[in-house]
Parts: sequence; structure tokens; C-alpha cells
Amino acid sequence: MNHDDLAHWSKRAADWARAYHAGLRDRPVRAQTRPGNTAARLPVAAPETPEPMEAIFADFEAFVPGAMTHWQHPRFFAYFPANAAPASMLAEQLANAIAAQAMLWQTAPAATEIEEVMLGWMRRALGLAPHFTGTIHDSATTATLAAVLTMRERALGWAGNTAGLALQPRLRLYASAQAHSSVDKAARVAGIGQDNLVKVATDADFAMDPAALDTAIRADLAAGYRPAGLILCVGGTGIGASDRIGDSLAVARAHGLYTHVDAAWAGSAMICPEFRPLWAGIDGADSIVMNPHKWLGVQFDCSLQFLADPAPQVKTLGLRPDYLETLGQSDVTDFNEWTLPLGRRFRALKLWFTLRAYGLEGLRARIRNHVAWAEEAAAAIAALPGLEIVTAPRLSLFTFACTDDAATEALLRRINDDGRIYLTQTRHEGRFVIRVQVGQFDCTRDDVTTIPAVLADLAGHGG
Ligand SMILES: *Cc1c(COP(=O)(O)O)cnc(C)c1O
Repeated sequence: MNHDDLAHWSKRAADWARAYHAGLRDRPVRAQTRPGNTAARLPVAAPETPEPMEAIFADFEAFVPGAMTHWQHPRFFAYFPANAAPASMLAEQLANAIAAQAMLWQTAPAATEIEEVMLGWMRRALGLAPHFTGTIHDSATTATLAAVLTMRERALGWAGNTAGLALQPRLRLYASAQAHSSVDKAARVAGIGQDNLVKVATDADFAMDPAALDTAIRADLAAGYRPAGLILCVGGTGIGASDRIGDSLAVARAHGLYTHVDAAWAGSAMICPEFRPLWAGIDGADSIVMNPHKWLGVQFDCSLQFLADPAPQVKTLGLRPDYLETLGQSDVTDFNEWTLPLGRRFRALKLWFTLRAYGLEGLRARIRNHVAWAEEAAAAIAALPGLEIVTAPRLSLFTFACTDDAATEALLRRINDDGRIYLTQTRHEGRFVIRVQVGQFDCTRDDVTTIPAVLADLAGHGG
């Protein structure tokens, strides 16, 4: 296969993609396949000689789409969305065609500068203060790890990076019980230890209690620990809970802690001014992560980290060996020094295309619709016999359940075997609940009203 063949097959692929997306509503949302089915259809070893693309493409069509869960299905209401607006897919194709590695300004000047400008566009779109700059990571997990590593090194005077952690003071991190598991993972991977991640008590609204945070920090100081950082959440994954950002940041600041706010999902909604009270006080954070690849329509992966001052993170993560020096250029940004991997994809292009092709008004309209339709769906579900709303919509996420866990679990299985919609579960205050989030880029009000319709069909039908 050469580049002429690539042009031919790219057109075939584009036609295939058009038909795939047009036909999504006719497919079950969640993969209806069993573990091992796909692997069993593949040979155990790679071919020794070239195979014709016709055969490879035919196998793709035969093996892959039928054994995938369709994230771009308009009735995907599980987890959080991983949207891929058409304009973003187009940009990704072009980035793939250039196939650059954007580790240094010199290796990808346009990618670096578009990334800088996109962080500016998004800062303005989200209503963040002018002092924020930032960078693009693959995922919120990585951005949170970068922030936690910065907390560690800042608290240790950058001695952990060089001397190691063995003889250092014992550090402490603070987060609410609603924090995403990526925070636990960061505490583990950063060598701070999950036992040193203090889960601070929450109030009746499942927000971190700032007074409890202050008490926890004082107790740790008295016990000889060194508090290093606070991780807050806006729109937690379980039920969409948000910490009171301004109040908790004030406590952290009084104790000199570095702060990071995880708004991976809900951050996209902050392009709508009316939702910004959810993160009131955000401008006081040192670091903020939000994922345009969740709710904004930008194809996975694209996670933005805003930094009040990039210097501590660059001091933590940046290394400049001789072979990465850019001769005669000291005034450019080399984004590898802001992020964990050296190699970086050209992720800013799809953000640029998406923001331009839909405009902020187009993106706001989608998010506002999703929130309104989620509220309608929750009201319709509340009216169904045997079902109750457990947590009311926060933005476009709510949970519901039957009267007992076993019935809820059985209902969830029936829903996903049915295939018209896809929902997933969480545990809330010990109870097994079904999550509903509305956020797929192409979903319509009809798609969302399918949720109560399917539940009316399936609830109460037993096993
Ligand atoms: C989805 C999510 C994450 C993890 O995001 P990735 O980009 O997949 O790493 C972290 N925190 C919250 C609140 C999330 O919703």
C-alpha cells in the first residue's frame, strides 16, 4: 500500500463512515458480544506476506463494528460522553496525514502555536481570568497526575525529583469522597501513597466541607505530616457533585497548598455563563483540568489543563538534555516540558476546527438542550411506578433506582440487552443506582425521551 492507495482507501473509509453514522440508531448501543468472540476470529500470528487491502477492509467490516459499543450513538447515555463532532474528526484526519510529533516548538511550530492560541480561546470561552495559560494532555488522568507531581515537588523544594522520596517528609493530599479514581491513582503513582490522600467529609450536598478540610490539615500538621495539595471536583463522576470551590481554595491557600480542580466533564458546560456558579471562585486555583473530548464535541483525546503559573509544573516535569535544545531559540514554548510524555500529538487542530465549525453559540445550545432534556427525562422517570430518582439532575446527570438493589441491577441488565439505550451504574451512599447522562453530540429530544419509554417497557417485567 502506497500513498496513492491511501487516497483511494481514504475515500472508501469516508463513505463507510458516513453510512456507519447514518445507521447508528439501528444498532444496539452497547456491544452485544461475548468475551473472546473477536479474538477467536483472528489468526494467532501476523501474515508473512502482504495481504490485499480489499481483504483487510472486508474483515474490518465483518469483525469490528458489530463487536463495538457505539460511543457516537445518539442514545449513548452511559458513563460520560466521548464525543466526536464531524469537524473534529476531519481535523484528526488532517493531523494524521501530517503525522507530526509536537514535542518541541521546532518539531511542530504551527501545532505549538495553535495549542497556545486554543488555550486562550478556551480560557475566554470558559470565563477564566486572563492570568491562566495551559496545555493539552491526552486525558484528565494525566493532567491530574501532572498536578499531583507538582504538589509533591513544590512541597519538597524539588528534592523528590533528584534525591528520591525515601528520606523525605510524609506528604498529605486532600480531596472529597466524590473525587474521581484518577486522584487515587495519582497519589499512588506519584509515590505519595493512597493512604496519604485524605478524603475530607462532605456536606448534605456532597460538597467538601471547608471546615472539615481545615481541621484535617491542622491535625496532619500536628501529627508531623507535610500537607502538599488539594484536589477539588466540579461535576464528579458518580452523581455530578461539586465542591464549593472558592471556600475550599481559601482554606488551602491559608495553609500554602497547591490546588487542582478536576472539572473533566462539567468544565465544558462552563461555556454557558449560567452554569458558572458551580465553580464560583475558580480563578483562585493553581491548576484546572477539563476535557473537550467529553462534552464539547472534540474527538478523544483532548484534555485541557489551565495553569495560573506554569513555572512549578515545568520545573517538575521539564528536562532539557542536549539533544532537545533548540539552537538559537530561547523564547519559544516546548510543550513536552509541561506534560508527562516527550512525544505529543497535534491535538489542538481538532479543537480549532470544532470551535470554528459550530461556534460557541452552537456548542452552548447543545449543552443547554442536554441539561433541559435530562430534567424532562428525570421527571418522566419519577412518574413511572416502581422507580425513583435518587439524585436529581446536576447539569445533565442524574441517577434512579428501583426499591431494592437486586431489582435495579436486573433492570439495568434488561436495558442494555435491549440495546435501544445504554446506561451504566454507580453506588451512591451504599445503594446501587443507574446513572443517566445526556451529552451525545447528535442526540435529539426524541432520543432522550426514549429513556423513559424504554423504562416503561422494561421496568416491572421481572427477570
Ligand atoms: C472522566 C473523568 C476523569 C478521567 O478522565 P480521562 O480523561 O479519561 O482520564 C477524571 N475526573 C472526572 C471528574 C471525570 O469525569
